[in-house]
Amino acid sequence: MFVTHLACTLCGQPHDHARLQAVSACCGKPLYAQYDLARVGAALGRDALPTREASLWRYREALPLPAGAAPVTLGEGWTPLLPVPRLAARLGLADVRVKDESQNPTASFKARGMTMAVSMARHLGATALAAPSAGNAGGALAAYAARAGLPAFIFMPKDTPRANVIECTEMGARVTLVDGLIHDCGAEVARRKDAEGWFDVSTLKEPYRAEGKKTLGYELAEQLGWTLPDVILYPTGGGTGLVGMWKAFDEMERMGWIGAARPRMIAVQAAGCQPIVRAWQAGERFAPLFERAHTSASGLRVPKAIGDFLILDAVRASGGEAVAVTDEAMLAATRETGSLEGLFVAPEGGACVAALRDLVRAGRVRPDERVVVFNTGAGLKYLECFA
Ligand SMILES: *Cc1c(COP(=O)(O)O)cnc(C)c1O
Ligand SMILES: [Zn+2]
Repeated sequence: MFVTHLACTLCGQPHDHARLQAVSACCGKPLYAQYDLARVGAALGRDALPTREASLWRYREALPLPAGAAPVTLGEGWTPLLPVPRLAARLGLADVRVKDESQNPTASFKARGMTMAVSMARHLGATALAAPSAGNAGGALAAYAARAGLPAFIFMPKDTPRANVIECTEMGARVTLVDGLIHDCGAEVARRKDAEGWFDVSTLKEPYRAEGKKTLGYELAEQLGWTLPDVILYPTGGGTGLVGMWKAFDEMERMGWIGAARPRMIAVQAAGCQPIVRAWQAGERFAPLFERAHTSASGLRVPKAIGDFLILDAVRASGGEAVAVTDEAMLAATRETGSLEGLFVAPEGGACVAALRDLVRAGRVRPDERVVVFNTGAGLKYLECFA
């Protein structure tokens, strides 16, 4: 295991990685795992990767779970990066690919974060897990907790898509429906966790969901022959995957796996819940709570993100931007993607396609640029949206 410590993402203060940790003690901000990358690079040559297992655990040395500890796994990651030529032509682009995260266990990329968070929580002695969820995180937590033999307590807004609620209960989790949004659910977990003995696996409030999601960045580079695309569109709620990829790019560069070039990171949000877009437009580093948040893309219904500054820093450093699309546009793009390419994407994936169309029209993405769009989940979990 090559983790040296955890560091506060705001001020850098080190924290002990040998015990369960939440947010930083100094600033109350996310903690990031720091590695001895010289040793990771020596132990894990990128050329040895093709013989490794077809899951995100192929990057084991760059992940936080010690070599002797067994992962809690359902075969997550190593999802296809699918060329979508008909959709690309419709958009006026030459090279668009969809990273199809609906092919993960529990049908969303939340599996990446939860395999890591639950593996680490069990390894470090947690006996019960809890989290708020706007949708897919709940299903992933229920699955990985069951796989680990640990109880899960999940708090969801009462209008969360039914499929998300059902999959949690069918996998044995205790679900509480809350009259509010995900931050209200998070407050409920925070209020009760000490008395109940729960370990809180809220995104970016423990260090390891981001480590699982950073594998998106490793996979992109490996699947593109150790290059990166020009533009990445990422449907941004808490932003864990976007900031995780940004961390992965940095780690890979320091190991000599990729160069210094970075994609423009486009954070895509819903018009009805766009705190990051507002902060981006205002030139701010922190995003206040977005009032009266509403969108049928439940994964984007995150009015307040603890990692706001990490998202905004990455978007700015990359020369990217933060953009919003309406629910009508994302649902139309979902149907278009399905009809043209046979991918029944989640509305969050549709949002990225809709945003890409807007950016092409505005001349902000050029026809010859290499674009990767994230489809983060499965349309089948959102039947209410398509009724
Ligand atoms: C959670 C979720 C998102 C947002 O992911 P973050 O990393 O929290 O920004 C996007 N799409 C889907 C389908 C999700 O479940
Ligand atoms: Zn700090």
